[in-house]
Amino acid sequence: MAGFNTISKAAIRALLEKYHRNCFSDGACLADVQQYIQSMAAHAIAEHTLRLSGGGITNTSLWNNFHDYVSPANSKITGKLIKNCIREIIEKEQSNQCCYCRRPLLNNAHAKPIEHILPHSIFVQHTFNILNLSISCVDCNAKKSNHVWTSHEGKFRRTRHYPAATAFTDMYHPRFHRYDEHVRFFRVHSNTHCISIYTGLTSQGKNLCKNLLTHISKLEIFVNANSELKNHIETIHEQECKPGSAAELAIQAFQVAFQEATETILEEV
Ligand SMILES: [Zn+2]
Repeated sequence: MAGFNTISKAAIRALLEKYHRNCFSDGACLADVQQYIQSMAAHAIAEHTLRLSGGGITNTSLWNNFHDYVSPANSKITGKLIKNCIREIIEKEQSNQCCYCRRPLLNNAHAKPIEHILPHSIFVQHTFNILNLSISCVDCNAKKSNHVWTSHEGKFRRTRHYPAATAFTDMYHPRFHRYDEHVRFFRVHSNTHCISIYTGLTSQGKNLCKNLLTHISKLEIFVNANSELKNHIETIHEQECKPGSAAELAIQAFQVAFQEATETILEEV
């Protein structure tokens, strides 16, 4: 295996402290926001415990509930604003690039979804763990969906604690790994076209290329070769729409349908 580094425990502690201090833009509300996030994390852990004990899946809406939250005590505290704040912090850390393909993120919330690295539908216990959150582009988010792409899925599922950085031996983790040590990309950007070629350098990087980045590369070429389609997609992504609105839901539905359609076409390329 090629040499690579993982984030240190001290750096993780510093990250968590940073998020704790900055998870809401209005400092006067910070304590209440922190308390709310902790309460939601406790719900997620309880749901995980229940599922492990054979109680079945009883709550699949924790993330959506978080988004729709409005504090009964202070209407300025909403889940939407908390999410926006978290998105801004992580996006800045990623230099406004997608955590997987490293293409620039567009300036619309719906075009830069918060990505659960271990999908919250499977790893409910990590739904609100900041270490499990990253920002991706819509293409990577749609392609990754609920895939896990690790042989450690069973082990990761059973524990309520977030896996150590060193446990991600075959899966690229955007928060724990250094991108440049795992993936090398070559990108040509002209006035009208953009072509990206990715090469995996480690087992994690090769895994990411095989499952995700090769598809993104093909998708980019496919869209660039269809100028009418490209223009329509750009128009859709430029739309400003309120989170949770009918317009945003329609855009998300389009993205899923587009992903499914191109998946079939590009598999044959
Ligand atoms: Zn991407």
